[in-house]
Amino acid sequence: MAILSIGSRGPQVVSLQQALNRESRPSPRLAADGVFGRLTRAAVLAFQRQAGLAVDGIVGPMTRAALRLADDGRPFTHRVLLHFRSISLTNVPFERILSHTQAVYAPYGIKIEFGSGSSLRLSPEDQTRLTQVDGSCEWEITGGEYADLQRLGGATPSNGILVYFIDHFSEPLNGCGGHMANRPACIVARAGTQYCTAHEVGHVLLGSTFAPVHIDDASNNLMHSVDFLRPRPPILTDLQVQRMKASPLCQAI
Ligand SMILES: [Zn+2]
Repeated sequence: MAILSIGSRGPQVVSLQQALNRESRPSPRLAADGVFGRLTRAAVLAFQRQAGLAVDGIVGPMTRAALRLADDGRPFTHRVLLHFRSISLTNVPFERILSHTQAVYAPYGIKIEFGSGSSLRLSPEDQTRLTQVDGSCEWEITGGEYADLQRLGGATPSNGILVYFIDHFSEPLNGCGGHMANRPACIVARAGTQYCTAHEVGHVLLGSTFAPVHIDDASNNLMHSVDFLRPRPPILTDLQVQRMKASPLCQAI
């Protein structure tokens, strides 16, 4: 899909205007007339601000993914539902975490959807105890504070992945994709970068038997073992995409 900005015209602008009406609810609603004019630009700016994106009025890959507009010729074929549970605020604003996670998966036809979001409303004792989550990140969590945290999230909504936001781990980690049996979940620490959630969700989708678990080359792969700041959305290999789409948590649409 071309990059859209003021002056663009055509069916792609119609799709954009419809998406803005759906996702951002501008008032008055935009006429879906296929002309990217002043009002469409204002709606794009407002949406970008609200989604924590660069506010430039230009519709490129990030804004398109956040608007859930599939690339032309690459319609979404799969969806993954995320349910967010928080006991701590993150350094990266939540909207930005969601939009960046969507931007990572959208080029592969995987639509990341917001299932639900809530605070865990812990007792003051639990809140203090779980400010630092002790233990170690294992594929299968069976006990300790990792399990306590994941139990406090309540039942896992069917076909969804729970994403827990905590303050920090006792281990030097920004995230952990391990979870309890039949409770697909991952945990992201406050210091996690804007793509940390996408990485941990990647672990959950790839499962414990996929190898290599991490790809530490210079290709900007999502599954690099270090959660560093990246200038552009990380990529996936064909094999990773294939395995992710075979996960029961990645539903064909
Ligand atoms: Zn990892």
